Amino acid sequence: MHILSKSTYIKGLQCEKALYMQKKHPYLRDKLSIEQRAKFQRGTDVGVLAHKVFPNGIDMSPNSPSQFPKKVQETWDNLCNPEVNVMYEAVFQYNDTLIMLDMLVRDGDHWLAVEVKSSMRLSDTYYNDAALQYYVLHGCGVPLSDFRLMYLNGDYVKEGSIDVQQLFKMESVMEYVTEHEAFVKENVERLKKVVALPHSPLVNIGTHCYNPYPCDFQGHCWKLIPRNSFLFTTAMDDEILFQCYFNGVNSNAKMLRQIEPDSLEAHQIEALDTNSYYVDYKTLYSLAPQPKPKSVAYLNLLFNRPAIPELDGTKPYEEMILAFALQGEHKYDASIDPMPSIGLRRDDLAAQNRFVWDCFDDHSRWKEAIDLLIEKLSHYEQIVCFAPQNLTTTLLRHKIIQNQTIGYKVFNLFEVLQQAHFYHPAIKQGLTLQSLEKSLFSDAKLFEHSRILLEATSNDLLSYQQAREDLITENEIITKTYQLFFK
Ligand code: SF4
Repeated sequence: MHILSKSTYIKGLQCEKALYMQKKHPYLRDKLSIEQRAKFQRGTDVGVLAHKVFPNGIDMSPNSPSQFPKKVQETWDNLCNPEVNVMYEAVFQYNDTLIMLDMLVRDGDHWLAVEVKSSMRLSDTYYNDAALQYYVLHGCGVPLSDFRLMYLNGDYVKEGSIDVQQLFKMESVMEYVTEHEAFVKENVERLKKVVALPHSPLVNIGTHCYNPYPCDFQGHCWKLIPRNSFLFTTAMDDEILFQCYFNGVNSNAKMLRQIEPDSLEAHQIEALDTNSYYVDYKTLYSLAPQPKPKSVAYLNLLFNRPAIPELDGTKPYEEMILAFALQGEHKYDASIDPMPSIGLRRDDLAAQNRFVWDCFDDHSRWKEAIDLLIEKLSHYEQIVCFAPQNLTTTLLRHKIIQNQTIGYKVFNLFEVLQQAHFYHPAIKQGLTLQSLEKSLFSDAKLFEHSRILLEATSNDLLSYQQAREDLITENEIITKTYQLFFK
């Protein structure tokens, strides 16, 4: 049986304890987030499509881990069989390290190794992956003509059926992997010893807990850190926070003695100590819309960025609007609105001014959203949204804003709260609508934005309904937040 695999090797490079825990106590792992699950699924879809670049291969994927030894043998049999020219997920083992290679293609009397990535750029982790795979292939004595990484070509535009030869690009990493063979060997030996330890290695928490990937043992390793520890602040660099922590600054009171009393870090610690949030009200109010708008619409847009282009004329990861929820609010004006709402409760009023649109069942209709938005937004003086990207630019790109008549109306709560240094421990991993809800209104974990996206792209009517409801819930958080600070 093998000791290391590609994923455990990469985990071990990040943290020895994470590797040990994964091998010996996997049940202590945190639950996989929807976002991570969606990422895995995306990788699988792209990998399967990439097979078409080298078609008619034999799929060596085992049905279960118990089949690994059998698949290693079958891979060898196929290598020696002149009738086999392409293998997918070929399984090799060397020095207790097992790998599954995306594609192995016969190239004369050598083989071309190809590893597929579902992104448009190559990162250090991908190079490290490839270096481990090369180490095993070379150790097994497989004669390689080249080792290439295959990834998505960001310039590819879909017209008709997908042209896989154009969709994918390849880059040789042969030089890198041969140069790093000694580095891999050293780390494989080191990590094998870690797995053999009688107990978990002593590794302190640190920035490696979320760098380069969020570790899935944080729930276990961080359980003794109080939820209001200064380690959850964001004003200072994490490296400095950990340095203080390991130098004996192990409480908020001690940390406060180290820093300027009126600093942002001090304000954040005070928020932690009072179980509240911090915002720089002076900046916040200076950013408030002036004069107060007579009509406001709260807008929540749901975008989809499919790795493999779905529609003609689009590129990998190109953004399309999948749905939006718009909640309008007018100041009552009897001269233009002769009391249409008498007898209606607050909820009815809200529903009356709500508009929800989606193209979940047919993404080719997505451009209908543009005309609808142009028409709907024109009724309001102010459009309030929450968008990590610059929404004005997005609206301009989709020509929802043709000129500045709508542009100046966009009020992006995300940007405003960031500028006003909004802080709560829930936003340590990022300011999102979910963390905002947790910070300001409720501790209940309502939903994940990525779950809405997953539901919206699921081909399931019930999931579509849930996605619509969650989209409205998100819009209510936008509404409540704006009203809390600016009404
Ligand atoms: S949470 Fe941090 S210390 Fe614990 S295993 Fe993960 S990376 Fe290592």
